[in-house]
Amino acid sequence: MKIIMLGAPGAGKGTQAKRVAEEYGIPHISTGDIFRANIRDNTELGKKAKEYMDKGLLVPDELTCDLVMNRISEADCKDGFVLDGFPRTIPQADALTKALEEKGMSMDAAVDIEVPDENIIGRMAGRRFCPKCGATYHVVALPPKAEGICDNDGEKLVIRDDDKEETVRNRLSVYHKETQPLIDYYKKAQILKTVDGTKTADEVFDGIKAVLS
Ligand code: AMP
Ligand code: ZN
Repeated sequence: MKIIMLGAPGAGKGTQAKRVAEEYGIPHISTGDIFRANIRDNTELGKKAKEYMDKGLLVPDELTCDLVMNRISEADCKDGFVLDGFPRTIPQADALTKALEEKGMSMDAAVDIEVPDENIIGRMAGRRFCPKCGATYHVVALPPKAEGICDNDGEKLVIRDDDKEETVRNRLSVYHKETQPLIDYYKKAQILKTVDGTKTADEVFDGIKAVLS
């Protein structure tokens, strides 16, 4: 199964994408995670991506598309994958459609997790991130076992630069302008599935499994 997760920043896309990947035994491909790993390792790509990410802007399509196309050509993706945070623009979606078409393939579903803007800002204020292993938490929705401490490695959790309030506002406006048009794009392609993202993480996951079955 080849699945795209859509939704505003803070809609719970990442958390749900990981669960979907586990449920269906397919790789979870998060462009945000790939960029953050490159920033941690101080690569050339990381240096370039950070300039955009810290401002809440999108990393340019040229830097993003090749990365994803290479990743989905790897052997572990042959039975499917979950894309989390890609595509984020119409040109990215077109690039993906074309790359798959060349292999005689297409995406099976684009799952949109719907959360109104009013809920997003508050949600993102509660996000916490482990700078060591990259795990994400939420003080209310997905708390670590010990407050402020990563479950995996005991590292002190931090607020990501791109989760700061002004950056969140920028990310939301970028989302509406660049990414929301993808909802129509995948509706036209007849693979759009919509899930109510305002419920608990477990309920949202049940909703996703229902639309995918
Ligand atoms: P995420 O973890 O998916 O919220 O992504 C964090 C940041 O990484 C975004 O705000 C963008 O700056 C950048 N990013 C992630 N995926 C993409 C993409 N497909 N296109 C452009 N920028 C991206
Ligand atoms: Zn950690």
